Amino acid sequence: MSDTTARRPSVRDDVALMAGYHSPQLDVAVRLNTNEAPGSPPEAFSEALVAAVRKIDWNRYPDRSAKDLREAIASLEGFDAAQVFAANGSNEVLQSLCLAYGGSGRTALTFEPTYALHSHIARVCGTNVVEFDRDAGFRLDPAAAAAAVREVRPHLVFLCSPNNPTGMLEDRETVEAVLTAAGEVGALLIVDEAYGQFAPWSALRLLDEDLPLVVTRTYSKTWSMAGARLGYMIGPTWVVQALESVALPYHLDAVTQLAGVLALDHRDAMEQRVATLVEERGRVSAALGRLDVDQWPSAANFILFRPRGIDGRQVWAELVERGVLVRDCSSWPRLEGCLRVTLGTRDEDDVFLTALGDVLAAGAPR
Ligand SMILES: *Cc1c(COP(=O)(O)O)cnc(C)c1O
Repeated sequence: MSDTTARRPSVRDDVALMAGYHSPQLDVAVRLNTNEAPGSPPEAFSEALVAAVRKIDWNRYPDRSAKDLREAIASLEGFDAAQVFAANGSNEVLQSLCLAYGGSGRTALTFEPTYALHSHIARVCGTNVVEFDRDAGFRLDPAAAAAAVREVRPHLVFLCSPNNPTGMLEDRETVEAVLTAAGEVGALLIVDEAYGQFAPWSALRLLDEDLPLVVTRTYSKTWSMAGARLGYMIGPTWVVQALESVALPYHLDAVTQLAGVLALDHRDAMEQRVATLVEERGRVSAALGRLDVDQWPSAANFILFRPRGIDGRQVWAELVERGVLVRDCSSWPRLEGCLRVTLGTRDEDDVFLTALGDVLAAGAPR
């Protein structure tokens, strides 16, 4: 080495100001903080995957176009393989969308509060982000949303339905109003449906080759496969082509592609899990209704709630002491005092409800 001290390279100015997006991974008995499915995929899936992995040609690059996977997803959702783009989690799909349609000199519009990664990923890709506030009940008025699009004239618009962290569904009228406005200003509308299978309607039915609309979905939640990192987008073929031009070559490894195809052989089991969780959502919501908390109507596998008369952060910490981890949203903008609980197994949810009841009954220390 020379005698001059090496200068440490500086991180991009805008990145240096960003905080990462992290959910604490504490080792507690009941983990209800990241909206994962409570159980594993079917045993038959794991067996089929192990058998298929043995046959992989490890010396070869995987299928770059992920043809089998895209065909399997297309037939699951009732579309064409040319309308499907798959990546390592739907977050990577969102990143690809931002790389292709956002970036320096371009703008993305979000309706807050919503999934923090929409604005985070957009900014990491150099995109300017404009945040528009939902009303006090976290609802989005169709006319107000469309007016925001016409005023901001963004290149990308994010909706999340059901919305994370509120759990609330975007109605069809709102999605259509935003889509019309997006079409007028040349923006691409992304509807993030990570929780779409839990909800009564999907923007998938609005898709059209001539409309600037894409829908993203993931294996992480309903398919019990957060560990696999696999998500996808369905949209016009011209968007798929644009994403292919920004994706890294062979970005989806051979195991992930196989896992994605084989999981879809167990659609009935997935739908059974979804039905169980939807029922559980009704039960937990009713129980929360008997406690001293406000809650928001959820169409997803989690519920946002706010303890009344006691600090959310304190409730979170006391739940951790009782072995229950929920998501602490209490310091997030617009979500003061709120906590978000993922639906787990019946037993896990009962542990949560009992612990919450105890914490609320004890109240704030004087
Ligand atoms: C969990 C979640 C995702 C999923 O991300 P993956 O990268 O597919 O695991 C995407 N969007 C929202 C709103 C989520 O809550």
